[in-house]
Amino acid sequence: MTSSARPLLNRRLAEFGTTIFAEMSALAVATGSINLGQGFPDTDGPEEIREAAVQALRDGRGNQYPPGPGVPELRTAITAHQERRYGLSYDPDREVLVTAGATEAIAAALLALVEPGDEVIAFEPYYDSYAACIAMAGGTRVPVTLRPHDGSFRLDLDELRSAVTPRTRLLLINTPHNPTGTVLTHAELTAIAQLAVERDLLVVADEVYEHLVFDDAGHLPLASFPGMRERTVSIGSAGKTFSFTGWKVGWVTSTPELVTAVRSAKQFLTYVASGPFQYAVAEALNLPDSYFETFRADMRAKRDLLAAGLADAGFKVFKPAGTYFVTTDIRPLGETDGFAFCRSLPERAGVVAIPNAVFYDHREEGAPFVRFAFCKRTEVLTDATERLRKAFVGR
Ligand SMILES: *Cc1c(COP(=O)(O)O)cnc(C)c1O
Repeated sequence: MTSSARPLLNRRLAEFGTTIFAEMSALAVATGSINLGQGFPDTDGPEEIREAAVQALRDGRGNQYPPGPGVPELRTAITAHQERRYGLSYDPDREVLVTAGATEAIAAALLALVEPGDEVIAFEPYYDSYAACIAMAGGTRVPVTLRPHDGSFRLDLDELRSAVTPRTRLLLINTPHNPTGTVLTHAELTAIAQLAVERDLLVVADEVYEHLVFDDAGHLPLASFPGMRERTVSIGSAGKTFSFTGWKVGWVTSTPELVTAVRSAKQFLTYVASGPFQYAVAEALNLPDSYFETFRADMRAKRDLLAAGLADAGFKVFKPAGTYFVTTDIRPLGETDGFAFCRSLPERAGVVAIPNAVFYDHREEGAPFVRFAFCKRTEVLTDATERLRKAFVGR
């Protein structure tokens, strides 16, 4: 028996209840709704990459603990990818770490680099694991709010600068940004880099949507900006880039010192993960450019379809420049509370979405915003937008 005087969940985690995704996914099942809540693709990635995983498993590659830093084939493929796409060169033996998805990379980086009492700056709305990982590391999160401006959510650079204090240890930067779909511009990234150098801050760059930037400029990795290569822990994810979110293969590229630090935490979390899948992801990273181009063009078409359908149904749409999410404003529908709206949406329209307020400390800032995922089959998106139009426009 446990003492009833003391809650079971420790104080660091007490504020984090069950994620909204569990509640909304259960609601989707109970009401037979189309689930545009959680961001996972409803079709798998390339067949030949699935086959590569089967082959690795049959050949006995990766069925036992792989090496701590990741299998050499994958580490080499990661460095070749960074070099080919961004001209960033990393040593596959000392500057790469394979993780159990980007989720573990984020957790290990924060656990390794943050001292209790350190402040960590992250954009709000933030990816949901950031707040919990900062808390587990004993850090204090300092949100800088992205606000709507001319059709997209923008960063206020002055606000970011004034959020830095002598206790700030780290900037946790996510671009392309989930949930808003914002892609930081060259000028914004330059300013962030200058700030990090000036205040001697570490940077964790969550770039899991690097291959989902829809304008032709493409992704700009923070590590490629002046002074950043030596202070940035860059994070990628095979789940997001190759549509195998269940495989949980992610990676870190950084300096030998930073990679060693992150690995010190990672070795006691999972130690290693996803053995056979690591070999398959190595092959995936070596796919020709046409794979990445087609993937991006497909997702862009899905974005356009969902964005147009939501606008048709009466939502204000923030057309995303990246990721696989559209954030909307529900006020044109006469609604103000995203939580209440999302709880009633399955009943009203047979569609599930996520209230962005869950991604904010300042919940009132996020109240009227609702996120829909478009990484779904075209017919699913068409069906969903027809349902929404019927519910809100009546035709
Ligand atoms: C999905 C996601 C992750 C986690 O990636 P996994 O490889 O599935 O662990 C991390 N950051 C952001 C912003 C994401 O959207």
